[in-house]
Amino acid sequence: MADIKTIDDENFAGKKVLVRVDFNAPVDGEGNVTDDTRIRAALPTINKLIDDGAKVILTSHRGRPAGEGFEEAFSLDPIARRLQELIGRDIVLTRDLTGPAVAEVVDAMADGDVVLLENIRFDAREKKNDPAFARELADLADAYVNDAFGTAHRAHASTAGVAEFLPSYAGYLMEREVGTLTGMLDEPKRPFVAILGGSKVSDKIKVIDALLDKADTLIIGGGMCFTFLLAQGHAVGTSLKEEDWVDRAAAMIEKARERGVSLLLPVDVVVADAFANDAAIETVSVDAIPADMMGLDIGPATVELYAEAIGMAKSVFWNGPMGVFEMPSFEAGTRKVAEAVAANEAADTIIGGGDSVAAVNKFDLADAMTFISTGGGASMELVQGEQLPGVEALR
Ligand code: ADP
Ligand code: MG
Repeated sequence: MADIKTIDDENFAGKKVLVRVDFNAPVDGEGNVTDDTRIRAALPTINKLIDDGAKVILTSHRGRPAGEGFEEAFSLDPIARRLQELIGRDIVLTRDLTGPAVAEVVDAMADGDVVLLENIRFDAREKKNDPAFARELADLADAYVNDAFGTAHRAHASTAGVAEFLPSYAGYLMEREVGTLTGMLDEPKRPFVAILGGSKVSDKIKVIDALLDKADTLIIGGGMCFTFLLAQGHAVGTSLKEEDWVDRAAAMIEKARERGVSLLLPVDVVVADAFANDAAIETVSVDAIPADMMGLDIGPATVELYAEAIGMAKSVFWNGPMGVFEMPSFEAGTRKVAEAVAANEAADTIIGGGDSVAAVNKFDLADAMTFISTGGGASMELVQGEQLPGVEALR
Protein backbone atom coordinates (compact mmCIF):
# COMPACT_ATOMS: atom_id res chain seq x y z
CA MET A 1 0.00 0.00 0.00
CA ALA A 2 2.99 2.28 0.55
CA ASP A 3 2.96 3.40 -3.08
CA ILE A 4 -0.77 4.10 -3.16
CA LYS A 5 -2.25 7.43 -2.12
CA THR A 6 -4.99 7.23 0.44
CA ILE A 7 -7.69 9.75 1.28
CA ASP A 8 -5.69 10.88 4.30
CA ASP A 9 -3.13 12.32 1.86
CA GLU A 10 -5.58 14.96 0.68
CA ASN A 11 -8.15 17.50 1.79
CA PHE A 12 -11.00 17.31 -0.68
CA ALA A 13 -12.71 20.60 0.22
CA GLY A 14 -14.82 21.83 -2.69
CA LYS A 15 -13.74 18.93 -4.91
CA LYS A 16 -16.07 16.62 -6.79
CA VAL A 17 -15.03 13.14 -5.72
CA LEU A 18 -16.23 9.98 -7.45
CA VAL A 19 -16.21 7.17 -4.88
CA ARG A 20 -16.56 3.50 -5.90
CA VAL A 21 -18.17 1.66 -3.00
CA ASP A 22 -19.46 -1.90 -2.66
CA PHE A 23 -23.15 -1.46 -1.85
CA ASN A 24 -24.05 -4.92 -3.16
CA ALA A 25 -26.21 -5.60 -0.10
CA PRO A 26 -29.07 -8.11 0.14
CA VAL A 27 -32.57 -6.64 -0.29
CA ASP A 28 -35.84 -8.41 0.61
CA GLY A 29 -39.07 -8.59 -1.42
CA GLU A 30 -40.33 -5.37 0.12
CA GLY A 31 -37.28 -3.39 -0.93
CA ASN A 32 -35.58 -3.27 2.46
CA VAL A 33 -31.88 -3.90 2.98
CA THR A 34 -31.62 -7.03 5.15
CA ASP A 35 -27.91 -6.75 5.97
CA ASP A 36 -26.30 -3.31 5.83
CA THR A 37 -22.75 -4.47 6.72
CA ARG A 38 -21.37 -3.39 3.36
CA ILE A 39 -23.01 0.03 3.55
CA ARG A 40 -21.70 0.63 7.07
CA ALA A 41 -18.23 -0.49 5.99
CA ALA A 42 -18.06 2.47 3.57
CA LEU A 43 -19.17 5.09 6.11
CA PRO A 44 -15.73 6.13 7.43
CA THR A 45 -14.64 7.09 3.91
CA ILE A 46 -17.92 8.82 3.07
CA ASN A 47 -17.89 10.74 6.35
CA LYS A 48 -14.29 11.87 5.92
CA LEU A 49 -15.15 13.28 2.48
CA ILE A 50 -18.28 14.99 3.81
CA ASP A 51 -16.25 16.46 6.68
CA ASP A 52 -13.67 17.73 4.21
CA GLY A 53 -16.47 19.53 2.37
CA ALA A 54 -16.23 17.44 -0.79
CA LYS A 55 -19.06 16.85 -3.22
CA VAL A 56 -19.42 13.11 -2.85
CA ILE A 57 -20.54 11.14 -5.91
CA LEU A 58 -21.02 7.49 -4.96
CA THR A 59 -21.13 4.63 -7.44
CA SER A 60 -21.78 0.91 -6.90
CA HIS A 61 -23.24 -2.17 -8.52
CA ARG A 62 -25.94 -4.39 -7.04
CA GLY A 63 -26.64 -7.89 -8.29
CA ARG A 64 -26.44 -8.91 -11.91
CA PRO A 65 -28.69 -6.75 -14.08
CA ALA A 66 -28.77 -7.39 -17.83
CA GLY A 67 -26.77 -4.25 -18.64
CA GLU A 68 -29.46 -2.86 -20.90
CA GLY A 69 -30.55 0.09 -18.79
CA PHE A 70 -32.66 0.63 -15.69
CA GLU A 71 -34.24 -2.41 -14.00
CA GLU A 72 -36.38 -1.82 -10.95
CA ALA A 73 -35.30 -5.11 -9.33
CA PHE A 74 -31.66 -3.99 -9.25
CA SER A 75 -32.19 -0.31 -8.42
CA LEU A 76 -30.05 1.22 -5.69
CA ASP A 77 -33.14 2.90 -4.25
CA PRO A 78 -33.25 0.61 -1.15
CA ILE A 79 -29.55 1.34 -0.62
CA ALA A 80 -30.07 5.10 -0.93
CA ARG A 81 -32.82 4.98 1.71
CA ARG A 82 -30.69 2.97 4.14
CA LEU A 83 -27.63 5.17 3.55
CA GLN A 84 -29.75 8.25 4.19
CA GLU A 85 -30.71 6.83 7.61
CA LEU A 86 -27.10 5.94 8.41
CA ILE A 87 -25.55 9.29 7.57
CA GLY A 88 -28.52 11.45 8.50
CA ARG A 89 -28.67 13.54 5.36
CA ASP A 90 -30.57 13.53 2.09
CA ILE A 91 -29.12 11.47 -0.74
CA VAL A 92 -29.99 12.17 -4.37
CA LEU A 93 -30.21 8.98 -6.46
CA THR A 94 -29.65 9.71 -10.17
CA ARG A 95 -31.41 7.73 -12.89
CA ASP A 96 -28.56 8.21 -15.40
CA LEU A 97 -25.01 7.04 -14.75
CA THR A 98 -23.09 9.64 -16.77
CA GLY A 99 -23.82 12.48 -19.20
CA PRO A 100 -25.48 15.90 -19.04
CA ALA A 101 -28.34 14.97 -16.69
CA VAL A 102 -25.90 13.74 -14.04
CA ALA A 103 -23.52 16.64 -14.64
CA GLU A 104 -26.43 18.99 -13.95
CA VAL A 105 -27.16 17.27 -10.62
CA VAL A 106 -23.47 17.41 -9.68
CA ASP A 107 -23.23 21.10 -10.61
CA ALA A 108 -26.09 21.82 -8.21
CA MET A 109 -24.34 20.08 -5.29
CA ALA A 110 -23.16 22.05 -2.28
CA ASP A 111 -19.97 21.10 -0.43
CA GLY A 112 -20.69 18.06 1.74
CA ASP A 113 -23.61 16.87 -0.40
CA VAL A 114 -23.92 13.22 -1.40
CA VAL A 115 -25.22 11.89 -4.72
CA LEU A 116 -25.57 8.19 -5.51
CA LEU A 117 -25.47 7.10 -9.15
CA GLU A 118 -27.86 4.28 -10.11
CA ASN A 119 -26.56 0.72 -10.41
CA ILE A 120 -23.40 1.07 -12.48
CA ARG A 121 -24.04 -2.33 -14.10
CA PHE A 122 -27.15 -0.95 -15.84
CA ASP A 123 -24.61 -0.02 -18.52
CA ALA A 124 -22.93 -3.03 -20.13
CA ARG A 125 -19.80 -0.96 -20.69
CA GLU A 126 -19.06 -1.12 -16.94
CA LYS A 127 -18.08 -4.80 -16.90
CA LYS A 128 -16.26 -4.45 -20.23
CA ASN A 129 -14.05 -1.79 -18.65
CA ASP A 130 -14.87 0.36 -21.68
CA PRO A 131 -12.44 3.33 -21.76
CA ALA A 132 -15.07 5.69 -23.18
CA PHE A 133 -17.40 4.86 -20.30
CA ALA A 134 -14.57 5.27 -17.78
CA ARG A 135 -13.89 8.67 -19.34
CA GLU A 136 -17.56 9.67 -19.00
CA LEU A 137 -17.44 8.73 -15.32
CA ALA A 138 -14.21 10.65 -14.83
CA ASP A 139 -15.73 13.74 -16.48
CA LEU A 140 -18.13 14.01 -13.52
CA ALA A 141 -15.39 14.49 -10.94
CA ASP A 142 -12.02 15.99 -9.95
CA ALA A 143 -10.76 12.94 -8.04
CA TYR A 144 -11.46 9.23 -7.72
CA VAL A 145 -11.56 7.11 -4.57
CA ASN A 146 -11.85 3.32 -4.62
CA ASP A 147 -13.28 1.90 -1.39
CA ALA A 148 -14.90 -1.17 -2.98
CA PHE A 149 -12.59 -3.93 -1.76
CA GLY A 150 -15.33 -6.50 -2.48
CA THR A 151 -15.03 -5.81 -6.23
CA ALA A 152 -11.31 -5.04 -6.33
CA HIS A 153 -10.68 -8.36 -8.10
CA ARG A 154 -12.66 -7.13 -11.11
CA ALA A 155 -11.24 -4.82 -13.79
CA HIS A 156 -14.34 -2.78 -14.56
CA ALA A 157 -14.77 0.84 -15.65
CA SER A 158 -15.68 2.08 -12.17
CA THR A 159 -13.19 -0.13 -10.31
CA ALA A 160 -10.14 0.22 -12.55
CA GLY A 161 -10.58 2.08 -15.86
CA VAL A 162 -11.60 5.41 -14.36
CA ALA A 163 -8.34 5.63 -12.39
CA GLU A 164 -6.54 6.34 -15.68
CA PHE A 165 -8.24 9.71 -15.94
CA LEU A 166 -8.26 11.14 -12.40
CA PRO A 167 -6.00 11.53 -9.38
CA SER A 168 -6.81 8.31 -7.51
CA TYR A 169 -6.88 7.29 -3.87
CA ALA A 170 -7.68 4.24 -1.74
CA GLY A 171 -10.51 4.68 0.75
CA TYR A 172 -10.22 3.56 4.38
CA LEU A 173 -11.90 0.20 3.85
CA MET A 174 -9.69 -0.61 0.88
CA GLU A 175 -6.61 0.45 2.84
CA ARG A 176 -7.56 -1.64 5.86
CA GLU A 177 -8.50 -4.76 3.90
CA VAL A 178 -5.40 -4.78 1.72
CA GLY A 179 -3.15 -3.72 4.60
CA THR A 180 -4.42 -6.38 6.98
CA LEU A 181 -4.42 -9.26 4.52
CA THR A 182 -1.05 -8.49 2.94
CA GLY A 183 0.42 -7.78 6.39
CA MET A 184 -0.69 -11.22 7.54
CA LEU A 185 0.84 -12.88 4.49
CA ASP A 186 4.10 -10.90 4.46
CA GLU A 187 4.91 -11.00 8.16
CA PRO A 188 2.62 -13.35 10.04
CA LYS A 189 3.12 -13.65 13.77
CA ARG A 190 4.15 -17.23 14.40
CA PRO A 191 2.88 -19.80 14.85
CA PHE A 192 0.58 -18.89 11.95
CA VAL A 193 -2.38 -21.27 11.78
CA ALA A 194 -4.51 -21.27 8.63
CA ILE A 195 -7.92 -22.94 8.76
CA LEU A 196 -9.62 -23.88 5.51
CA GLY A 197 -13.02 -25.41 5.04
CA GLY A 198 -16.07 -24.88 2.89
CA SER A 199 -17.34 -27.07 0.17
CA LYS A 200 -14.82 -27.86 -2.55
CA VAL A 201 -11.11 -28.50 -2.92
CA SER A 202 -11.33 -27.30 -6.52
CA ASP A 203 -12.52 -23.85 -5.35
CA LYS A 204 -9.75 -23.47 -2.82
CA ILE A 205 -6.74 -25.32 -4.22
CA LYS A 206 -4.80 -22.12 -4.99
CA VAL A 207 -5.49 -20.81 -1.48
CA ILE A 208 -4.32 -24.10 0.05
CA ASP A 209 -1.22 -24.05 -2.11
CA ALA A 210 -0.40 -20.42 -1.26
CA LEU A 211 -0.98 -20.90 2.47
CA LEU A 212 1.31 -23.93 2.52
CA ASP A 213 4.08 -21.45 1.64
CA LYS A 214 3.22 -19.22 4.60
CA ALA A 215 1.59 -21.12 7.44
CA ASP A 216 3.08 -23.23 10.23
CA THR A 217 -0.09 -25.26 10.57
CA LEU A 218 -2.83 -25.84 8.01
CA ILE A 219 -6.15 -27.16 9.29
CA ILE A 220 -8.61 -28.67 6.84
CA GLY A 221 -12.33 -29.20 7.49
CA GLY A 222 -15.62 -28.86 5.62
CA GLY A 223 -16.64 -30.74 2.51
CA MET A 224 -13.14 -30.46 1.08
CA CYS A 225 -11.66 -32.69 3.79
CA PHE A 226 -13.17 -35.79 2.17
CA THR A 227 -11.07 -35.44 -0.96
CA PHE A 228 -8.02 -35.24 1.33
CA LEU A 229 -9.25 -38.28 3.27
CA LEU A 230 -9.55 -40.14 -0.06
CA ALA A 231 -5.97 -39.13 -0.84
CA GLN A 232 -4.98 -40.70 2.49
CA GLY A 233 -6.69 -43.91 1.46
CA HIS A 234 -9.87 -43.66 3.54
CA ALA A 235 -13.32 -44.54 2.22
CA VAL A 236 -15.67 -41.58 2.57
CA GLY A 237 -19.11 -43.06 1.81
CA THR A 238 -21.47 -40.62 0.12
CA SER A 239 -19.65 -37.51 1.38
CA LEU A 240 -18.95 -34.59 -0.94
CA LYS A 241 -15.89 -35.66 -2.88
CA GLU A 242 -14.05 -34.65 -6.01
CA GLU A 243 -12.36 -37.74 -7.41
CA ASP A 244 -10.56 -35.69 -10.08
CA TRP A 245 -8.88 -33.68 -7.34
CA VAL A 246 -7.54 -36.55 -5.23
CA ASP A 247 -4.12 -36.33 -6.91
CA ARG A 248 -3.94 -32.60 -6.23
CA ALA A 249 -4.92 -33.19 -2.61
CA ALA A 250 -2.19 -35.83 -2.35
CA ALA A 251 0.28 -33.32 -3.80
CA MET A 252 -0.74 -30.82 -1.10
CA ILE A 253 -0.18 -33.43 1.62
CA GLU A 254 3.26 -34.04 0.13
CA LYS A 255 4.01 -30.31 -0.10
CA ALA A 256 3.10 -29.87 3.56
CA ARG A 257 5.49 -32.69 4.48
CA GLU A 258 8.34 -31.22 2.41
CA ARG A 259 7.89 -27.74 3.86
CA GLY A 260 7.45 -28.91 7.43
CA VAL A 261 3.93 -27.53 7.67
CA SER A 262 1.77 -29.40 10.13
CA LEU A 263 -1.28 -30.41 8.07
CA LEU A 264 -4.22 -31.37 10.25
CA LEU A 265 -7.04 -33.46 8.82
CA PRO A 266 -10.12 -34.82 10.63
CA VAL A 267 -9.73 -37.94 12.75
CA ASP A 268 -13.49 -38.31 13.27
CA VAL A 269 -16.57 -36.99 11.48
CA VAL A 270 -20.30 -36.64 12.01
CA VAL A 271 -22.05 -38.71 9.34
CA ALA A 272 -25.71 -38.66 8.31
CA ASP A 273 -27.93 -40.84 6.15
CA ALA A 274 -29.26 -37.79 4.30
CA PHE A 275 -28.43 -34.13 3.70
CA ALA A 276 -31.02 -33.01 6.23
CA ASN A 277 -31.11 -31.62 9.73
CA ASP A 278 -33.31 -34.50 10.94
CA ALA A 279 -31.23 -37.26 9.30
CA ALA A 280 -30.00 -40.23 11.35
CA ILE A 281 -26.60 -39.20 12.72
CA GLU A 282 -23.51 -40.96 14.02
CA THR A 283 -19.99 -39.90 14.98
CA VAL A 284 -17.38 -42.21 13.47
CA SER A 285 -13.62 -42.45 13.08
CA VAL A 286 -12.39 -41.54 9.60
CA ASP A 287 -11.43 -45.24 9.27
CA ALA A 288 -15.05 -46.26 9.61
CA ILE A 289 -17.22 -44.01 7.46
CA PRO A 290 -20.19 -46.21 6.40
CA ALA A 291 -20.58 -46.65 2.64
CA ASP A 292 -24.13 -45.29 2.67
CA MET A 293 -23.55 -42.21 4.84
CA MET A 294 -22.12 -38.73 4.26
CA GLY A 295 -19.88 -36.64 6.47
CA LEU A 296 -21.46 -33.29 7.26
CA ASP A 297 -19.30 -32.05 10.14
CA ILE A 298 -16.00 -32.70 11.87
CA GLY A 299 -16.25 -34.79 15.04
CA PRO A 300 -15.42 -33.95 18.69
CA ALA A 301 -11.94 -35.54 18.70
CA THR A 302 -11.08 -33.47 15.62
CA VAL A 303 -12.43 -30.33 17.28
CA GLU A 304 -10.15 -30.98 20.25
CA LEU A 305 -7.12 -31.46 18.00
CA TYR A 306 -7.90 -28.29 16.02
CA ALA A 307 -8.69 -26.18 19.10
CA GLU A 308 -5.35 -27.13 20.62
CA ALA A 309 -3.44 -25.94 17.54
CA ILE A 310 -5.54 -22.77 17.35
CA GLY A 311 -4.90 -22.04 21.03
CA MET A 312 -1.13 -21.95 20.40
CA ALA A 313 -1.32 -19.63 17.40
CA LYS A 314 -0.12 -16.03 17.30
CA SER A 315 -1.99 -15.45 14.07
CA VAL A 316 -4.97 -17.22 12.55
CA PHE A 317 -6.52 -16.98 9.10
CA TRP A 318 -9.82 -18.75 8.63
CA ASN A 319 -11.80 -19.32 5.47
CA GLY A 320 -14.62 -21.82 5.04
CA PRO A 321 -16.91 -23.52 7.58
CA MET A 322 -15.99 -26.90 9.09
CA GLY A 323 -19.36 -28.46 8.30
CA VAL A 324 -22.88 -27.71 7.13
CA PHE A 325 -23.25 -25.07 9.84
CA GLU A 326 -26.54 -23.84 8.37
CA MET A 327 -28.19 -26.93 9.91
CA PRO A 328 -28.09 -27.09 13.73
CA SER A 329 -27.27 -30.82 13.67
CA PHE A 330 -24.01 -30.10 11.85
CA GLU A 331 -22.99 -26.74 13.27
CA ALA A 332 -20.95 -27.89 16.29
CA GLY A 333 -17.60 -28.21 14.50
CA THR A 334 -17.78 -24.74 13.00
CA ARG A 335 -19.08 -23.24 16.24
CA LYS A 336 -16.34 -24.81 18.38
CA VAL A 337 -13.58 -23.85 15.98
CA ALA A 338 -15.00 -20.30 15.92
CA GLU A 339 -15.02 -20.30 19.73
CA ALA A 340 -11.42 -21.49 19.84
CA VAL A 341 -10.36 -18.72 17.46
CA ALA A 342 -12.33 -16.12 19.44
CA ALA A 343 -10.83 -17.35 22.74
CA ASN A 344 -7.25 -16.84 21.55
CA GLU A 345 -6.80 -13.25 22.64
CA ALA A 346 -3.06 -13.32 22.05
CA ALA A 347 -3.46 -13.94 18.32
CA ASP A 348 -4.35 -11.76 15.35
CA THR A 349 -7.47 -13.46 14.04
CA ILE A 350 -8.60 -12.79 10.50
CA ILE A 351 -11.75 -14.21 8.94
CA GLY A 352 -12.16 -14.16 5.15
CA GLY A 353 -14.91 -15.40 2.88
CA GLY A 354 -18.66 -15.19 2.61
CA ASP A 355 -19.91 -18.24 4.49
CA SER A 356 -17.19 -18.20 7.15
CA VAL A 357 -18.15 -14.63 7.99
CA ALA A 358 -21.83 -15.65 8.07
CA ALA A 359 -20.93 -18.46 10.50
CA VAL A 360 -18.98 -16.15 12.81
CA ASN A 361 -21.93 -13.74 12.79
CA LYS A 362 -24.39 -16.56 13.43
CA PHE A 363 -22.44 -17.58 16.54
CA ASP A 364 -22.20 -13.95 17.62
CA LEU A 365 -18.41 -14.04 17.75
CA ALA A 366 -17.57 -11.29 15.25
CA ASP A 367 -16.57 -8.81 17.95
CA ALA A 368 -13.99 -11.22 19.31
CA MET A 369 -12.10 -11.39 16.00
CA THR A 370 -9.32 -8.99 15.04
CA PHE A 371 -10.52 -8.50 11.47
CA ILE A 372 -13.39 -9.69 9.32
CA SER A 373 -12.90 -9.23 5.61
CA THR A 374 -15.85 -7.81 3.67
CA GLY A 375 -14.62 -9.25 0.39
CA GLY A 376 -15.08 -12.96 -0.30
CA GLY A 377 -13.62 -13.37 -3.79
CA ALA A 378 -11.25 -10.41 -3.46
CA SER A 379 -9.74 -11.62 -0.19
CA MET A 380 -9.28 -15.14 -1.60
CA GLU A 381 -7.48 -13.76 -4.66
CA LEU A 382 -5.21 -11.66 -2.46
CA VAL A 383 -4.37 -14.66 -0.28
CA GLN A 384 -3.69 -16.65 -3.45
CA GLY A 385 -1.02 -14.09 -4.26
CA GLU A 386 -2.88 -12.54 -7.19
CA GLN A 387 -2.85 -8.83 -7.94
CA LEU A 388 -6.19 -7.08 -7.68
CA PRO A 389 -6.96 -4.83 -10.69
CA GLY A 390 -8.83 -2.37 -8.45
CA VAL A 391 -5.72 -1.97 -6.30
CA GLU A 392 -3.23 -1.96 -9.16
CA ALA A 393 -5.17 0.83 -10.89
CA LEU A 394 -4.50 3.08 -7.90
CA ARG A 395 -0.73 2.77 -8.23
P1 ADP B 1 -16.73 -19.51 2.15
O1 ADP B 1 -17.90 -18.77 1.56
O2 ADP B 1 -16.52 -19.20 3.59
O3 ADP B 1 -15.49 -19.35 1.33
P2 ADP B 1 -17.52 -21.97 0.84
O4 ADP B 1 -18.43 -21.19 -0.03
O5 ADP B 1 -16.34 -22.61 0.24
O6 ADP B 1 -17.08 -21.07 2.11
O7 ADP B 1 -18.33 -23.17 1.51
C1 ADP B 1 -19.41 -22.96 2.37
C2 ADP B 1 -20.40 -24.10 2.28
O8 ADP B 1 -19.76 -25.34 2.50
C3 ADP B 1 -21.47 -23.97 3.33
O9 ADP B 1 -22.70 -23.71 2.69
C4 ADP B 1 -21.47 -25.34 4.02
O10 ADP B 1 -22.77 -25.86 4.24
C5 ADP B 1 -20.74 -26.21 3.02
N1 ADP B 1 -20.14 -27.38 3.67
C6 ADP B 1 -19.31 -27.39 4.72
N2 ADP B 1 -19.01 -28.65 5.07
C7 ADP B 1 -19.67 -29.47 4.22
C8 ADP B 1 -19.77 -30.88 4.09
N3 ADP B 1 -19.14 -31.71 4.92
N4 ADP B 1 -20.56 -31.35 3.10
C9 ADP B 1 -21.19 -30.51 2.26
N5 ADP B 1 -21.13 -29.18 2.34
C10 ADP B 1 -20.39 -28.64 3.31
MG1 MG C 1 -19.23 -19.24 -0.07
